[in-house]
Amino acid sequence: MSKNSECSVNSEHQQRETSLVDPFGRHINYVRLSVTDRCNLRCTYCMAEEMTFLPKQQILSLEELRDSARAFVELGVRKIRLTGGEPLIRRDIVKLVASLSAMSGLDEVTMTTNGLLLPGLAQPLKDAGLARLNISLDSLKAARFKQLTRVGNLDDVLAGIDAATAAQFRKVKLNAVILAGFNDDEVVDLAQFAIDKGMDISFIEEMPLGEIDSHSRVNTQIASGRLQTKLGDVFNLTASSDVTGGPSRYWQVANSESKIGFISPMSNNFCDSCNRVRVTAEGRLLLCLGNENSVDLRQVLRSYPGDIQRLKTTIRSAIEHKPERHYFDSEHVDIVRFMNMTGG
Ligand code: SAM
Ligand code: SF4
Repeated sequence: MSKNSECSVNSEHQQRETSLVDPFGRHINYVRLSVTDRCNLRCTYCMAEEMTFLPKQQILSLEELRDSARAFVELGVRKIRLTGGEPLIRRDIVKLVASLSAMSGLDEVTMTTNGLLLPGLAQPLKDAGLARLNISLDSLKAARFKQLTRVGNLDDVLAGIDAATAAQFRKVKLNAVILAGFNDDEVVDLAQFAIDKGMDISFIEEMPLGEIDSHSRVNTQIASGRLQTKLGDVFNLTASSDVTGGPSRYWQVANSESKIGFISPMSNNFCDSCNRVRVTAEGRLLLCLGNENSVDLRQVLRSYPGDIQRLKTTIRSAIEHKPERHYFDSEHVDIVRFMNMTGG
């Protein structure tokens, strides 16, 4: 073999060792890591009213979360989003953020939260290195917020949003799941709220994850396109080329700092550009939100503690089975796990 072809074989080998590419040529560089399935809210579209949560010993420990993150980063993952359940109810969350932020090779640690505990945690999280935050806010009406979350107080989330602003994260974005007949009349108000705060906001279509009894998802489904028309009547929107590594498609609001995003898993399949996988709180590597294929990383973590190489081999072979796309249908719940288990 000539020196040149030896070099190219070596570099191909190196690239294979340090990147994750699925059978459809998609590069996986983003992991959503769920740190708990528990939550201090009970949003109707996310959970049933009565939930059974995992026993604590089944949840990945801080060390196991770190080892999983290390393996992904060595395989080319550049962004980790911490989620849940509610990530802020995990006692060691600031420690976890600090250790992930210090991990060489990782560009960004971000988080999705309901915001309730941010008044006490925003600054410690910022100091620990958390770059960006997504805060969920589905209504600006207190009674409706309580109805949607079953137990939440709107003022607590608003205080959380203010605390996040004061802590000066690189970016704070709002997320709103829109349900027809529940909060679709609030999209303009929610967008205006985000604009006034200088934040971006994404509107999310409800996905049929887990069997719920509060409403029928067929009746509450509303396509992003309809929301966009409504918003376009009030705001001057131009398509933005901005990408954040997530599934939102953004529109810039004229004369403002804010962008409006749409996450449309039901009406506009975005699987062809999927760059992410999820790890559930009990350490299942989920290859796709809308399929049940998963691989048990906890078994590897607990049988071979600290063996990053073995984890990497498990992850690499799992990625070879990443499905091409999801086939969500709001009339059928094919996916029995709830979103709090999945890690949104
Ligand atoms: N507890 C945190 C929160 O609410 O932001 C993080 C976890 S939550 C599962 C992540 C995101 O998923 C939230 O923005 C939530 O609104 C969204 N979500 C939950 N269930 C959903 C569903 N069935 N369809 C679409 N989005 C959902
Ligand atoms: Fe909790 Fe988030 Fe699910 Fe609401 S959406 S119940 S805050 S995990």
